[in-house]
Amino acid sequence: MEILDGKKISSDIKDEIAVEVAQLKAKGEKVPHLAAVIVGNDGASKTYVGAKVKACNFVGFESTLIEFPEDTTEAELLAKIEELNTNDVIDGYIVQLPLPKHIDEHKVLLAVDATKDVDGFHPVNVGRMALELPTFLPATPYGIMELLERYNVPTLGKNVVVIGRSHIVGRPMSILMSQRRAAGDATVTVAHSKTENLKELTLNADIIVVALGVAEFLKGDMIKEGVTIIDVGITRIEDASKKRGFRLAGDVDYESVAPKSSFITPVPGGVGPMTIAMLLKNTLLARSRHMENEK
Ligand code: NAP
Repeated sequence: MEILDGKKISSDIKDEIAVEVAQLKAKGEKVPHLAAVIVGNDGASKTYVGAKVKACNFVGFESTLIEFPEDTTEAELLAKIEELNTNDVIDGYIVQLPLPKHIDEHKVLLAVDATKDVDGFHPVNVGRMALELPTFLPATPYGIMELLERYNVPTLGKNVVVIGRSHIVGRPMSILMSQRRAAGDATVTVAHSKTENLKELTLNADIIVVALGVAEFLKGDMIKEGVTIIDVGITRIEDASKKRGFRLAGDVDYESVAPKSSFITPVPGGVGPMTIAMLLKNTLLARSRHMENEK
């Protein structure tokens, strides 16, 4: 069994990006600038955004954190988005999800300028991804593809089961792995809460991407020997023995699954850090495209 070490690979990617940023600086060019918008006080969201800003500092990007209170109106948020769209200093930005219930998430994502949508959630970018055109790939699936590629995990012709069909993880993951590309060319099945014979499907899978948000859902008796496991889930479980009062659990029962796997991502230290690294990669891409347009 080999660990797909997202912590190490993401650190390699951040080092690679830092070199590119240093080269930009040496040439007197503008460095990439990422903005992050967060609405409300969700603890997990604040942690994620904090980690994104810290990663920007690490690689030498400029960053701006925009924090709004929970009772911010949709109109106020849309006004800020318009401002970010037209502000030439900002190369890319993200709106941290989930948003408070009174704000229409879809309307907000549609308002983001597709050329600054480094999360890759805008319909234009989702469409470009589906059509295999250059675009910002959504960071979590992009990070998984990069992990599979850098560890040379065989995917060509393999049976892949993706558990979960969310717009940000499961669906794009299934599209990317079925495409003619590195870490692609697989035969992909997408499972969800209405799937009837899940265990039958997972027992036949060579690779399982587990992204449903149910702690320790995938057990050892649901998989065959030699399978590759990508655990996307992050659930906070109360744990009084921990200083912060909780521990993080993946969607995979690591104890029973890891011994049967050929490759597996741990939680934490697997997919999570890759997501942040790929967001940085998308921001670097946004900067280089803006630079082309400025010429
Ligand atoms: P989501 O939007 O809640 O989607 C969950 C998906 O799982 C849905 O498609 C749902 O089916 C399916 N599902 C739920 N219960 C199921 C069951 N018993 N059997 C089969 N399928 C089931 O979740 P998400 O945003 O994709 O996130 C999934 C997990 O990944 C969460 O723990 C989240 O925190 C984590 N995550 C991690 C990262 C990272 O960077 N590591 C990034 C994003 C998300 P229906 O469509 O039928 O409802």
